[in-house]
Amino acid sequence: RKFDDYNLSDEIKRALVVLKYNTPTEVQSVVIPKALENQDLVVKSHTGSGKTASFGIPICEMIEWEEKKPQALILTPTRELAAQVREDITNIGRLKRIKAMAIYGKEPFTKQKEELKQKTHVVVGTPGRVIDHIDRGTLNLEKIKYLIIDEADEMLNMGFIDAVELILKELPAKRVTMVFSATLPKDVESLCHKYMIDPIHIEI
Ligand code: AMP
Repeated sequence: RKFDDYNLSDEIKRALVVLKYNTPTEVQSVVIPKALENQDLVVKSHTGSGKTASFGIPICEMIEWEEKKPQALILTPTRELAAQVREDITNIGRLKRIKAMAIYGKEPFTKQKEELKQKTHVVVGTPGRVIDHIDRGTLNLEKIKYLIIDEADEMLNMGFIDAVELILKELPAKRVTMVFSATLPKDVESLCHKYMIDPIHIEI
């Protein structure tokens, strides 16, 4: 297993060297090639498996720098996870100058609104605040090509699953959807069934 085996640009490969990601983890070795082929995925894996980079690497690879509207949306159940994912994406995409932004509650809406007016390639957010921005017209979803639902079972536990479904309805139909979850409760399964296209199930 080598990152060189995947079809990744030099900028991404060099960023991984800087991060000392020398070999792909198990989840990365399965997810990265399939994601690069635009395959919808349901991935059963847990924190510590390297799951963030497994979606972060293909997202950073496909981002077109010139596009001003967000191209990837990552939903997380908590602010802490949103901030962590934003940081990981920024590190992976550093040499492509990828701009990732975290939007979550408890932080001033106006500040986020101003930041969203600037070029933003990747938006990482909690469902409630993402919906606020959609409702107020401050988050444009027209160019979203990747949707990641991280810790989907936690979304369910925290009562965010309806909010997630609302967001799914607003997204362009032509996109790649990846769901990450430690367990797959029935409500998560049925959401996957309803909003994904022939997803491959991966269990690590
Ligand atoms: P995660 O499961 O995404 O929370 O990642 C767990 C930890 O593993 C994080 O600190 C990552 O920075 C690190 N990590 C992710 N992928 C790799 C890799 N291929 N090689 C070494 N460390 C990694």
